[in-house]
Amino acid sequence: MLPVTVTEYEAKSILTPTGGFLTGFSHTLNPYVGCSLGRSLCGMACYAAEMRFASREAAPWGQSLMVKLNAASLYRRDYARVRRKGEWLSIFMSSVTDPYVPQERRYRITRGILEAMVELPPDTVVIQTHTPNVLWDIEMLSRLHERCRLTIQISIETDQEALPGFPRHAYSVSARLDALRALTKAGLNTVGVVSPMLPLAEPTSFAERLGAVASSVILDHYLIGDGSLNGSRTRRRKAVRDLTIPAMIAAADSDDWNTMEKFDQIVDTFRTVLGNERVGVSAEGFCAMAGGI
Ligand code: SF4
Repeated sequence: MLPVTVTEYEAKSILTPTGGFLTGFSHTLNPYVGCSLGRSLCGMACYAAEMRFASREAAPWGQSLMVKLNAASLYRRDYARVRRKGEWLSIFMSSVTDPYVPQERRYRITRGILEAMVELPPDTVVIQTHTPNVLWDIEMLSRLHERCRLTIQISIETDQEALPGFPRHAYSVSARLDALRALTKAGLNTVGVVSPMLPLAEPTSFAERLGAVASSVILDHYLIGDGSLNGSRTRRRKAVRDLTIPAMIAAADSDDWNTMEKFDQIVDTFRTVLGNERVGVSAEGFCAMAGGI
């Protein structure tokens, strides 16, 4: 793994009004800029990587992390501004980083924000992560759950611990399933997010495994979920060397997973196993499962 440059700074604001894919939420909240997991498998298909040019991060995706040291105090300030206007506050945390990058263990930026949220709760909040590190805060999350509608989403884009030709997962599939199980067992609302869906070895079994550990499941495919028409953003972006994600899927002898026919078939499989109510699809599913606006 390439080294990650970590920079500390004081951000100007922390609650950002949403748009596009996240219209079901009023604000996004990103404790960091960039993502230190960007060189792992999830980073190859990461939609956030496409947006980094709009941020202060100039380094290649996955090699830079900027730490918002003042995030918790900014939350308190921005919260007061939103509430003064009498507005609904529905937060997606996070849209362009992961709130549980390994560096969170040292900096505790996300932890500080959760403490501020317990004190000043939003109406709804979704914690979205690719890691089991969210368990570091399970007690604080239980306290927040008492104060607002909280959903914890863990992404697991495939049931395979290794995909031929792809980089390694930052965290194993089994560790992420275990984390969902622990959170659900603690009484929290959880979602297993299969996004962007990559080839599955055993779709029915994966649906059963996710159904056993999470409250609900969201399925998404780059063809409908990457924020561009027909997945053109994913089909254009070089993920590893000169290969795009669709080319890597095809090279793994799984070209049918590049089609909506295959995706629709998997949605049917999951709905057969889990029932319609527990399976959401793409943006609509994200909004419904999280209780957004
Ligand atoms: S953890 Fe999330 S933000 Fe970070 S590289 Fe993976 S998909 Fe992107």
